[in-house]
Amino acid sequence: MRVCWIGIGGNLGNSHEVFDVAWDELAPQLDLQLGLRSGIYHTSPVGQHAGDTFSNAVFSLSTTLEPAQLLTRLQAVEISLGRKKNVRWGNRPIDLDLLFVDQMVMDEPSLTIPHRAAWYRRFVIDPLFEVAPALRHPLLNQTITELKVRLSTRPLIIECLDSPPPQSVDLTSRFPDARFVTGGKPASIGFQLSGVPLATTGEGVPIADITNTPGGTNQRITDFLTSVLDEPQRVSDW
Ligand code: ADP
Ligand code: MG
Repeated sequence: MRVCWIGIGGNLGNSHEVFDVAWDELAPQLDLQLGLRSGIYHTSPVGQHAGDTFSNAVFSLSTTLEPAQLLTRLQAVEISLGRKKNVRWGNRPIDLDLLFVDQMVMDEPSLTIPHRAAWYRRFVIDPLFEVAPALRHPLLNQTITELKVRLSTRPLIIECLDSPPPQSVDLTSRFPDARFVTGGKPASIGFQLSGVPLATTGEGVPIADITNTPGGTNQRITDFLTSVLDEPQRVSDW
């Protein structure tokens, strides 16, 4: 049996009801044993077409299925709940992401574990912190608690590792909770637009790879910073 953590989010319809329907579709499946679930959080939309406030939560399950088989099950629930695949990072009734599978590490085009963005998205980290604070990220070797403390520091010191850094977005006025630094200064978190495997700088600062996120350069940077600097609000139990 493997313990898997799944992120659930959406911003169309009544998200609490949609999450309940997803849970009820997975619960009877004999090779899945559903486990813990977090409360529901309101979070800032990420993506040019993302629309209104999102609701997010996480839950765990145990299974003997291979991760790719589990992802197929999750995608079947997305489809049955009316998700249309046409706009990446657009409005959606439901998004199910496979965040962690035990301490497994895999990187294939259709499935990366841990989920590439799990460690820097507050809409993932905050609900995980509620139910799995001691869960360890196998690549960064940090717990969810450590990741949350890092992201919650204000100002958050953020380094852009692209050289030269992109000029056109006025990051300082848009994101007053951040302080932006370039090479050589101590940072809390880094990001790079041009393809690095999940890695850390020499000082153990984790680097987010935002190569494949949707949109142009400014959009990708803005989306990354929104997910890092957001402060999710817990609105209800699930
Ligand atoms: P996103 O979740 O980034 O908003 P999608 O849900 O449309 O976008 O996912 C895009 C693709 O990401 C899926 O087709 C899936 O194959 C791939 N993918 C890679 N790793 C994962 C993962 N850990 N969990 C879910 N999907 C993943
Ligand atoms: Mg997804």
